Amino acid sequence: MKNKHNLVGLSRTELATEMAELGEKPFRVKQLWHWIYHRGQTDFAQMTTLAKDFRARLTETHVVVRPIISREQTSEDRTRKWLIRFDDGQKAETVFIPEEDRGAVCISSQVGCTLTCTFCHTGTQKLVRNLTAPEIVGQFMVARDSYGEWPTPKDGGRMISNIVMMGMGEPLFNYDNVATALKIIMDHEGIALSKRRITLSTSGVVPEMARCGEELGVNLAVSLHAVTDELRDVLVPINRKHPLKQLMAACRAYPGANNARRITYEYLMLKGINDSPADARALAKLVKGMPAKFNLIPFNAWPGASYECSGSNVIRRFAAILNDAGYSAPIRSPRGRDIMAACGQLKSASERERRPRAAAECHAK
Ligand code: SAH
Ligand code: SF4
Repeated sequence: MKNKHNLVGLSRTELATEMAELGEKPFRVKQLWHWIYHRGQTDFAQMTTLAKDFRARLTETHVVVRPIISREQTSEDRTRKWLIRFDDGQKAETVFIPEEDRGAVCISSQVGCTLTCTFCHTGTQKLVRNLTAPEIVGQFMVARDSYGEWPTPKDGGRMISNIVMMGMGEPLFNYDNVATALKIIMDHEGIALSKRRITLSTSGVVPEMARCGEELGVNLAVSLHAVTDELRDVLVPINRKHPLKQLMAACRAYPGANNARRITYEYLMLKGINDSPADARALAKLVKGMPAKFNLIPFNAWPGASYECSGSNVIRRFAAILNDAGYSAPIRSPRGRDIMAACGQLKSASERERRPRAAAECHAK
């Protein structure tokens, strides 16, 4: 088992190469792809459209496996979180956030993060490593297995209908693996999730943004959180490298960003830090002339966090100012807080112990 090569997460070209090495014709790739990504089949013996001897040979050399679920928790609000263990023992978290008849999987791109945003639990965990394409696709497949969503239902009939690249890590610092994984997920003959249903969130890795829009065409979310460089330098330290002016220029240039596909700006509500009416007005000014929408995220506390969440009236007033300026600015209701599955709470056991910061409580609901 150890030496057998996993077929999950290989791009079409890589799969074609593997099959060519086994002396198989290109149409086999199409058939295999269908079994793996449309049917969710993991047992070669059940892949009945493949010739028997080919199935037998595949069993000798290859496997179709998911990463291992180390722990699964389901929140009182039905949010589900998996701690996933990869082949080398490293772990990352994946979350499913169900709505009425649909839902989004929040996928991790790295174990830990190189960045150290001061409000983020993942940011207290040093980068251990990038996740590979198979590990990224594997997280999605684990979620689909968990809800028994095979074969791939038609668009519109799916429980797992969306992906947000908002788990652990900065996806644009692991662009190639993320891109390979998303292309597999978007492929029409397999999972076939539309790019319109995928959102990638970045803290502002300016040099990779254009490529993401051109090559993947997915929705972009930008973790803004502050309207001045002075504050953003502290909250989102990558701002020191790519300050607001550069970031906003990259947003203006983001391919495909138009009225139908606005960039989402995520804005954390931190009590007394970035939540004044003046901040809200400055925020509207910052995106002026651009198709934009906001997501106001009540700060989710984690053990040792040194921030508090803004009060609900403060958040509502902030939203109203953005609405008056013509922008949609929903207040995101936190999900899965009881199992530490909410935005910014993810962290895996592959951590190094850190000194605790002062405890924080969030009062917004
Ligand atoms: N690294 C990427 C994607 C992962 S973070 C990024 O930073 O965009 C996903 C979202 O959760 C980001 O908008 C991040 O700013 C937000 N977040 C981080 N910590 C949070 C916390 N404690 N409470 C609420 N949201 C948080
Ligand atoms: Fe990394 Fe995003 Fe957390 Fe910042 S907010 S530390 S970029 S995961």
